[in-house]
Amino acid sequence: LERQGKWQITDSLKELAQLAETAGAEVLGMTWQKRDRPDSALFIGRGKVEELSLLSQEKNANLIVFDDELSPAQQRNLEKALGVKVLDRTALILDIFAQRARSHEGKLQVELAQLRYNLPRLGGQGLVLSRLGGGIGTRGPGETKLEVDRRRIRDRVNDITRQIEYIKKQRNLHRKRREITRIPTIALVGYTNAGKSTLLNLLTASEVLAEDKLFATLDPTTRNITLTNGQQALITDTVGFIQKLPHQLIAAFRATLEEVVQADILLHVVDVSHPQYQEQSHAVFQVLHELNVDIKQLITIFNKADKIGDPNSVSALLKTENSVMISALRGHGVEGLLLLIEDAIKQKTIEMHLLIPYDES
Ligand code: GDP
Repeated sequence: LERQGKWQITDSLKELAQLAETAGAEVLGMTWQKRDRPDSALFIGRGKVEELSLLSQEKNANLIVFDDELSPAQQRNLEKALGVKVLDRTALILDIFAQRARSHEGKLQVELAQLRYNLPRLGGQGLVLSRLGGGIGTRGPGETKLEVDRRRIRDRVNDITRQIEYIKKQRNLHRKRREITRIPTIALVGYTNAGKSTLLNLLTASEVLAEDKLFATLDPTTRNITLTNGQQALITDTVGFIQKLPHQLIAAFRATLEEVVQADILLHVVDVSHPQYQEQSHAVFQVLHELNVDIKQLITIFNKADKIGDPNSVSALLKTENSVMISALRGHGVEGLLLLIEDAIKQKTIEMHLLIPYDES
């Protein structure tokens, strides 16, 4: 479907191809269709379905991924019509998350998102059967099993939600302790692949996985950093943001992302060498908005400066307050960034003094 704004169909498809590769698929081709609105049964038009069917036979493809979310019925109808597995962007992203979650909490969150995604897609045939049979007398074992499956999924969802709630409480305790010791917290946010892990490595000289893949970072990693003035701070890397991040995932990752919500300072890492970096930034702010993040202190980091031929092309951006141009890979511009962080912390400390008056005794 034609997209609004500057994300062209092909940009979004290129990103989808990158996501598919990250999930382990080999991309054989892409195609799109312009329509006023999606077909309710097949999402695309019938002619397009035939064309896709031929294309997939010709290329020997065994998977077709749609860039927009398909309804459970559309997905089933398309699989029937095309004779190959059909996924949508959401399912693909969920699959990548499932492959990459490492911590116990991360795995629970991904499972929760997958269960929520799968619940309405469960047992489509059972539903079709009962409709055809008009209800009474057709409630065979198929439908009973469906009900059992639904209940099992719901039980599991409740179970996971409880576990995540418990982990969240533990984390809140840790956070409270940090608040008491007044260690400022910093959260890294940014579009996926912007260079958050690379920057975290540079700032903390640790070895967090940095990969040229979408979503290398899933579980939040918190590290200690010492600023040039000796000030200590805690810095957390978060999951990468992406346009059209499935809402099931935002919901599931809410607990993790609370680190972001609670952070004193947000560092927004932008891959300034990416042609759509402005749209990517916009997508990040959209997710922050969905999370109800009250942005107190924001530093914008224009990363991958080493990759842009003409720095003047982004000079207008540098006039943005509280921003800095760096190359996390080469370590350029870090001093400037550290100074901005120190300033932000100073301001934060003043605020805290205002909030918590000194004990006179
Ligand atoms: P994340 O998804 O935001 O955590 O991004 P990563 O830190 O994993 O980086 C994504 C890719 O961009 C990796 O291949 C990095 O080596 C590369 N990268 C990160 N920072 C820079 C930079 O300043 N310059 C260049 N050229 N590449 C970078």
